Amino acid sequence: MARYTDSVCRMCRREGTKLFLKGDKCFSAKCAQATRPTPPGQHGQARARKASEYGIQLREKQKARRAYGLMEGQFRRTFGKAEGMKGITGENLLSLLERRLDNVVYRSGLASSRAQARQFVAHGLFTVNGKKVDIPSFTTKVGDVISVRSTRRDIEHFKIVKEGVSRVVPKWLTTTAAELTTTVTALPQRDDVDLTLQENMIVEFYSR
Ligand code: SF4
Repeated sequence: MARYTDSVCRMCRREGTKLFLKGDKCFSAKCAQATRPTPPGQHGQARARKASEYGIQLREKQKARRAYGLMEGQFRRTFGKAEGMKGITGENLLSLLERRLDNVVYRSGLASSRAQARQFVAHGLFTVNGKKVDIPSFTTKVGDVISVRSTRRDIEHFKIVKEGVSRVVPKWLTTTAAELTTTVTALPQRDDVDLTLQENMIVEFYSR
């Protein structure tokens, strides 16, 4: 499977906003978006001046895709699924992205970044309603209980998590840190998304 291997901080600088891809570093003074807030590359600053309508739509799409860690094909398929649902396509898209199992693991505080969450899930560290699920794109639903597998709870990272989750957990999730468990108690709403995104621009990008 294709995956991005370059510096992820470059992606934040390219999109001109924090995408929170590096866990605790994103909240520290070392954040590259805070220390060097210009697009990466020798001519980064020059590129920042151009912004056609298409360019703005493209950047919004790229921002969302990169923040959730998806490749273009996966993101396009998720958009197609959102289009087929009732309601507003842009909000459906954000809801589907938020409900991905790797994102739920991250937002619940059981992993420090979406990339780490994705790796944990792919390595089979989590169960959904008691059954092992190792598919990061798995779509969770209301009532699902996501837990760290009993055989994997002695990993150093989870020993720290057990002492308490420092991040603000969105209201549609209920995390019990001591039990390394989170429950999906509601569907995520538009204001639950912790990223600055204009989803209508993404819809327009794919409607061209
Ligand atoms: Fe890097 Fe995180 Fe800052 Fe983005 S938000 S530039 S990933 S440290």
